[in-house]
Amino acid sequence: MAFKRTKKIRKKNKTQPTEEFILRTPKGMHDVLPSEQPYWDRINKVIRSVAELYGFGEIRTPILEFALLFQKTAGQATDLIEKEMYLLKTRGGDLLALRPEGTAPVARAYLEHKLGRVAQPQKLYYLGPMFRHENPQLGRYRELTQVGFEILGGANDALYDAQIIAIFRRILAELKIKNVKLKINSIGCRSCRPQYLRLLQNYYSYYEKEICADCSRRLKVNPFRLLDCNKEACKEIKEEAPNILDKLCSACSRHLKDVLEYLDEIGIAYELDNYLVRGLDYYNRTVFEFFAEEEKNNVGALLGGGRYDYLIEFLGGKSTPAVGGAAGIERLIVVMKSQEIVFPQKSSKKIFVAHVGGLAKKKAFTLIERLRQECNVAISEMLSKDSLKAQLKVADRESASLALILGQKEIYEENVIIRDLQSGLQETVPLSNIVEEIKKRL
Ligand code: AMP
Repeated sequence: MAFKRTKKIRKKNKTQPTEEFILRTPKGMHDVLPSEQPYWDRINKVIRSVAELYGFGEIRTPILEFALLFQKTAGQATDLIEKEMYLLKTRGGDLLALRPEGTAPVARAYLEHKLGRVAQPQKLYYLGPMFRHENPQLGRYRELTQVGFEILGGANDALYDAQIIAIFRRILAELKIKNVKLKINSIGCRSCRPQYLRLLQNYYSYYEKEICADCSRRLKVNPFRLLDCNKEACKEIKEEAPNILDKLCSACSRHLKDVLEYLDEIGIAYELDNYLVRGLDYYNRTVFEFFAEEEKNNVGALLGGGRYDYLIEFLGGKSTPAVGGAAGIERLIVVMKSQEIVFPQKSSKKIFVAHVGGLAKKKAFTLIERLRQECNVAISEMLSKDSLKAQLKVADRESASLALILGQKEIYEENVIIRDLQSGLQETVPLSNIVEEIKKRL
């Protein structure tokens, strides 16, 4: 039993993986093989075109940041910081973290490069890997790829919340993902939230013996997360918990109302969900998540985000309004596969070059390079095979439309055969004219 053996080895030698581990990716990390690339290409294309439409500039931040950046901004009592961060100490003694999320690095870059002085607000987007030491399952990995859109600076205006939501709605629509649902809530601000949290704590203290172990912990360190719990024991208790929407201050209520009105204006449907909260300390007011209602392969939220007006302040900057969100690309792909979303096949033609004989092989090699340079067309070959039949089999498998065949006779006469692989018709043309011939036929 290979599994048992692996377990034994792991126990015996926890820090020094043996050879058995060389041929697999670490837990929760994946290769993306060429067969998966059409999904990634499509998503990349959609993201970049939507970013351009909405006037967002791309920002790339390092994969490693000082751990303090996340510790200072996310709050200590969050799983992301307490349990999920990959930490490493450099030879120089710096404590770095593989970034678990993209918003804090963007805010750091905003301050470090004084982007607020360039233009207000700054509209930025990023795309790249994040790392979280979570328990892997479908749609939950340790290396994940996120695309995030952030608006930092400018006015504290509800229209920006609606704009971020509209961007993600547009991305989901362009990817043809169906049955999408938007959930939205407000988690208040510094003035109304503490009072609500006290109410929530008082209410839950009454049920302390009945709630699950996780909730007992949350009750003390992060009471907002009590609303996240879906365990049977806690569900009924949650149903009767105080509703934050009844406790918002007038400024937060107005902000939420404005966001909802903007969404109505642009025809984006939503569901108010007063249980929706976000674990990180820097969020305030609007929080949202998009789901795809799937019968099978339910992966949870496809994306989430919210307003984070305190983040820049946490980093030592002046009070700066900000709002954004992030989607997990791997989750989008799970849903796209489950909904059997297919992409239009590229119609570009492919040319196959075949040869017969050693001399023709060298000439074919040169011809291929010349065509790639001068015709800008995809060329494939199987020059390592001598048999013409075997080569043409590959051309067929790769759905090439034309085959160029060079044999001893053609080399001698400085010609090449062009065969139309659909009709089977072929003609011989001078090698010197081949570029014009190909361009004519494409
Ligand atoms: P968050 O940064 O936690 O708000 O997550 C934003 C989005 O990233 C989620 O809605 C998911 O689509 C995706 N995501 C978060 N955690 C994971 C994970 N461990 N594996 C894959 N995707 C994730």
